Amino acid sequence: MSDGKITKRFIAGAVCPRCNAMDRLVIFRRDDKDFRECVSCGFLDEMRLNTPKNELETRVNTPEAVKAAQTQAVKWLEQ
Ligand SMILES: [Zn+2]
Repeated sequence: MSDGKITKRFIAGAVCPRCNAMDRLVIFRRDDKDFRECVSCGFLDEMRLNTPKNELETRVNTPEAVKAAQTQAVKWLEQ
């Protein structure tokens, strides 16, 4: 039973977009959504990786940087 328990994982090498701290970002899942959070400054961002609509849009016109970031994020989630 894991109800109410949220596991946060650090993202190796990730840099916070707000405070630029490295290795301070964690990812966690809550309410079927994935979030990333900076434990240094409190930055919180929802990661919309599993939205079918978003997936279709990015397939049609995906900048390489976005594609790489999504691939990396999936790897994090699978760890
Ligand atoms: Zn931060």
